[in-house]
Amino acid sequence: MMSCKKFIIGKMLVAGFIVTGLFTQAHAIDVDAVVKAAYEKYKDLDEGANADYIPALAKVDSNLFGIVVITTDGKIYSAGDVASEVSIQSISKVFTMARVMEDSGTEVITENMGVDATGQVFNSIVAIEQYQGQEMNPMVNPGAIATTSMVKGSSEKEIWKNIIDTYDDFAGRKLTVMEDIYTSEAATNQRNQALAMLMYAYGRIEKAPIEATDIYTRQCSVGVNAKDLATMAATLANGGKNPVTGKTVVSHEIIPEILAVMATAGLYDDSGQWLYKTGLPAKSGVGGGILAVSPGKFGIAAISPPLDAAGNSIRAQRAIADIANALGGNPYDPAPK
Ligand code: GLU
Repeated sequence: MMSCKKFIIGKMLVAGFIVTGLFTQAHAIDVDAVVKAAYEKYKDLDEGANADYIPALAKVDSNLFGIVVITTDGKIYSAGDVASEVSIQSISKVFTMARVMEDSGTEVITENMGVDATGQVFNSIVAIEQYQGQEMNPMVNPGAIATTSMVKGSSEKEIWKNIIDTYDDFAGRKLTVMEDIYTSEAATNQRNQALAMLMYAYGRIEKAPIEATDIYTRQCSVGVNAKDLATMAATLANGGKNPVTGKTVVSHEIIPEILAVMATAGLYDDSGQWLYKTGLPAKSGVGGGILAVSPGKFGIAAISPPLDAAGNSIRAQRAIADIANALGGNPYDPAPK
């Protein structure tokens, strides 16, 4: 009886956001408390382990935990450590893809490496073999390295500038590479080089596969804090315009395709489970970050390095799911009229 009552109150609040369009007004009333409650609930959760297949990731402080929500009108709510940086890792795939879509159109992604989920792990050689590199997805490594190889630029320097400038615009500040992470991954990324060579052999990467792998490794090593990730998510939620800086980063026409690819394969093999629980396009990285997008409403991100067996941050998943659901973020949950 008690929990039923609570549920109804929550639903009325959510309906209030949608019907009256006073989402941010409702936000100002309770988002802060919702974010802080999720932080308190999960801060002592002691499950999972840091990724260690990239040696430097094993050394990152496992206790680091921060959550940030940014609404599409630029209001910021946070709890925990929102300043410490982790490497962006796979979350970078979203923003490199955004660069390529913006410069070359969304079709180049479907034509070159597809947008379906492979049904295999994120660095699967079997998946490339099975589909000859065609049914990949830009959110898993073969598709992501192919996407990086499609960034415009006449030199490695110019390509990198296009990538990092895009990330900077999404985050609303200058980001830098965590050189210790880059060095560690560059010394151990033979499998990614193999994926790239295979994509090259199937004509999915046109040239310089090893160079593309190196740029991809560098993009994965960019340092971000929870606020950076939330700003990046909020920029997607706001149709490509950064709600904190006011800058239009990419055109709104490409946002539906970006979000669709995130929904399909953003959380590795648990992408379906995640969508089932939250309805939100999201992307995680083995550095411990996850960002999620509630279209038109807010971006949310959390950082916490210990991962579950699928490679997704445990605290970040739980905190984001709780908060996003409490704020009525699920686009598949329309209020009946
Ligand atoms: N740089 C990592 C790799 O390529 C990214 C993996 C991830 O975050 O999923 O293995």
